[in-house]
Amino acid sequence: MLNDLKAQPKDKILMLMEMFKEDPREVKVDLGVGVYKTPEGVTPIMRAIKTAEKQLWEVETTKSYTGLAGDPGFTGGMRDLVLGDAVPADRVAAAATPGGTGAVRQAFDLARMANPDVTVWVSQPTWPNHTSILKHMGVPMREYRYFDDATCAVDFDGMMSDLQDVAKGDVVLLHGCCHNPTGANLTLPEFQRVAELLNDKGALPMVDIAYQGFGDGLDADAAGVRHIVSNCPEALVAASCSKNFGIYRERAGVLMAVQEDASKTPVAQGTLNHINRQNFSFPPDHGARLVSMILADDALRADWMAELEDMRTGMLTLREQLAEELRRLTGSDRFGFIAQHRGMFSRLGATTAQVDEMREKHGIYMVGDSRINVAGLNKDTVPLLARAMVDVGV
Ligand code: PMP
Repeated sequence: MLNDLKAQPKDKILMLMEMFKEDPREVKVDLGVGVYKTPEGVTPIMRAIKTAEKQLWEVETTKSYTGLAGDPGFTGGMRDLVLGDAVPADRVAAAATPGGTGAVRQAFDLARMANPDVTVWVSQPTWPNHTSILKHMGVPMREYRYFDDATCAVDFDGMMSDLQDVAKGDVVLLHGCCHNPTGANLTLPEFQRVAELLNDKGALPMVDIAYQGFGDGLDADAAGVRHIVSNCPEALVAASCSKNFGIYRERAGVLMAVQEDASKTPVAQGTLNHINRQNFSFPPDHGARLVSMILADDALRADWMAELEDMRTGMLTLREQLAEELRRLTGSDRFGFIAQHRGMFSRLGATTAQVDEMREKHGIYMVGDSRINVAGLNKDTVPLLARAMVDVGV
């Protein structure tokens, strides 16, 4: 029977990583995989995580199971971090999940339990895992226009026009900040208009927030999702700790279900627990516990916020340097969008052929849709990328 399995398509980013490793050239730049890197190319363990791990080793007395929804200190801490005081805590059911991906997957499961005929709307483009998970689950999906290839900014008119077709009971998936893969984001007034539209349609907003603190700051990055939860009767929010706490392999994330009426929160909570139970039982605890320790301790939290802010401003500086270098080389401002984009990614607007040429001729590796990981650059490689872009005619 297992002989009947069909080969799955290879992951494009992992294939790119392989190619990069095998490239013998001395000068080569990896802008593919989506992990934060220092200018030296290292993905560091954040200082506060190291300190919390040391403390945890001292005080942890058991590795017995947590609750099905994980540690309430974690889910409560994350609720406050992401949602602030935008919604009363008693309207929010929350469960720890294996990373943000786990939260996304559980959210789709929950939506389908609530409405077996649900259609999930995703931005075109979106993080490829959104679409592949929906396909894997057999959940119907529709796309709304999002990115304007000509300006490399959000095509908000196209988005609003496509969302006119949203039906009651559909789910509309939004990126909370730092859109992956484009780097182009909704402004707060645009979030407000989307919220109004979804309320008019009777659709459920789902916000995936995987890069809080990587764009304009922890609170600014959460402004959109906070507006949604305070203005829409119900919402799903999937948050990841992988990037902003740098704990990718620990798999820490949270799914929150915001209920219209607090009396219904226990049912939502029970459903989240149930879905965890069916899929993996208890969620991983180590990363989640480190996060809850950091969020609950003033000194650890301040140190974490300071390091996160350094990471954020470092990426912003790289954006500005790249935009400036391109301005100098082309004498035009048409790459100004790179400094406007936020987060770890930018879609540069290069064709597949240009992406291939930049890799083959210049040793610069990026995803085929011309998404770059800005954190893969440093001040020495910014000019290399700029020159390659101009050379291949982007
Ligand atoms: N959503 C988006 C849009 C992402 O880019 C990512 C990370 N690549 C995630 C969710 C979840 O990441 P993880 O499962 O590693 O926490």
